[in-house]
Amino acid sequence: MAEEQKKAPKKIVPKKYPMPEQDPKVRVHNFNEVPIGQDGQTAILEAQRCLQCKPSPNRKLCMDGCPVEINIPGFIKHVQEGDFAGAIKVIREKQNLPAVCGRVCPYEAQCEGNCIVGKKNEPVGIGRLERFLADWERREQAHGKIEVPPPTGKEVAVVGAGPAGLTVAGDLAKLGHKVTVFEALQYCGGVLVYGIPEFRLPKEIVNAEVDYIRRSGVEIKNDYVIGKVATVDELMAEYDAVFVGTGAGLPNWTNLPGENLNGIMSANEFLTRTNLMKAFKFPEYDTPIRVGETVVTLGGGNVAMDCARTSLRLGAKKSIILYRRSDAELPARREEIHHAKEEGVHFELLAAPVSFIGDDCGNVKQVEAIRMQLGEPDASGRRRPVKIPGSEFRVDCQTVLVAIGQSPNPLVPMTTENLKTTEEGTIAVDEHGRTSKKGVFAGGDIASGAATVILAMGDGKRAAKAMHRYMTEDPSWPSPEVFEKLAAEK
Ligand code: FAD
Ligand code: SF4
Ligand code: SF4
Repeated sequence: MAEEQKKAPKKIVPKKYPMPEQDPKVRVHNFNEVPIGQDGQTAILEAQRCLQCKPSPNRKLCMDGCPVEINIPGFIKHVQEGDFAGAIKVIREKQNLPAVCGRVCPYEAQCEGNCIVGKKNEPVGIGRLERFLADWERREQAHGKIEVPPPTGKEVAVVGAGPAGLTVAGDLAKLGHKVTVFEALQYCGGVLVYGIPEFRLPKEIVNAEVDYIRRSGVEIKNDYVIGKVATVDELMAEYDAVFVGTGAGLPNWTNLPGENLNGIMSANEFLTRTNLMKAFKFPEYDTPIRVGETVVTLGGGNVAMDCARTSLRLGAKKSIILYRRSDAELPARREEIHHAKEEGVHFELLAAPVSFIGDDCGNVKQVEAIRMQLGEPDASGRRRPVKIPGSEFRVDCQTVLVAIGQSPNPLVPMTTENLKTTEEGTIAVDEHGRTSKKGVFAGGDIASGAATVILAMGDGKRAAKAMHRYMTEDPSWPSPEVFEKLAAEK
């Protein structure tokens, strides 16, 4: 009988254990984090849904979907046994920002997208387990000592303290290199602090992750704009290698008539004022922000969801997303779309702006839009939106937020000699993050174009490995022709 029980297939609880959340009616009036987090007992139950699959060349598993290669079954095994310290140790071998990724990583398309349990049931909640462990570590081991090897004598400069730069810094410090990060802003974290709102990613969590990297010996110089205070070429004279992770912070505009009316602003400006300059705490903080009764946000990605949800919290009575494709093509994470809908954001789908109409004082009062239908798939594989002639309509509003993408920051490419860029303005890199300039590496949004936190971190990991090899074993470098070819292919 005991033998039979051993062989019986494991009965899987079909759904993830629920994540407690703030009530939508309450949270729409505050900036506190929406999901409240699970407790240890729930984490153990969630971990017990994992089958501890063995790697096989014939099937993809959770780990194949994690750009930073966390040993997922390895850490989950520790959680199953209630050993949270062992679990976070496994995560920390590969991951510098677990509390961040446990919250904003698009895990449904990454690790959880490959989970075997997810074939017939809901996948194992890998993201929420990572979040639980990082939060547990912050509470229980916040000031623990971080072991680093003896100094190698090599010095590295990292430009930009976003997810890509922080990953490079953390990984190289763990290898014994002396790392100095140069960050343009007063705060570290890049988009994690100036873009993603407090209710999705509390800033104290980003600060704690940055503190962990500092404690591993990394020096961070804030208010230091590379390209103005010093150039990459000057850094190269002082350091053994340089990593550029300056992100994609330049907002894209529609260039439609009327876009310069008052009340129209980029998502970037709106979110930076709110998050970084704490406009949501005005007058306690001295950054004012004005939102009208009706706010229209253009776009359908995470940035657009953040704008629409933030505007409700700042007092808008109605918040409308205007997006040119249908619900299925919305590029934002499904969880963010779900939360936005719960909070009352209205979705005007299959509609694109045509122009902006102002009142006599130059303030926006309407967006003129046109209905769209979906045609054949375009280069992105998504069906192309096509205008329906004569279907124009107007939406009354007092604020318009433009969230239709960001482009790479041009300052470093413009001020660095012989640094090749692509037509889109990204820095051309090979698969190791090597640029056209010997000793200079790049990664994250500045090399890939606007992407995700975990892809930026994956770039950072690959670059850190290559930088270590470059400084310690193999200083060879591909020829400039390789980059001509790379730039042409991008
Ligand atoms: P960044 O995060 O942009 O960091 C670059 C850093 O470099 C910044 O700190 C900047 O100040 C600094 N810098 C720039 N120029 C210089 C210079 N000349 N000298 C010194 N420093 C400089 N991704 C997800 O995975 N999930 C999400 O839910 C999600 N939501 C998002 C919401 C918003 C509003 C936005 C804007 C993006 C979101 N993303 C999300 C995308 C994600 O945040 C980015 O892909 C990621 O932050 C890129 O990391 P990075 O390190 O390449 O660049
Ligand atoms: Fe999954 Fe992202 Fe964590 Fe990797 S970092 S295990 S992809 S949630
Ligand atoms: Fe566990 Fe899913 Fe990974 Fe299998 S694929 S080890 S079930 S998390």
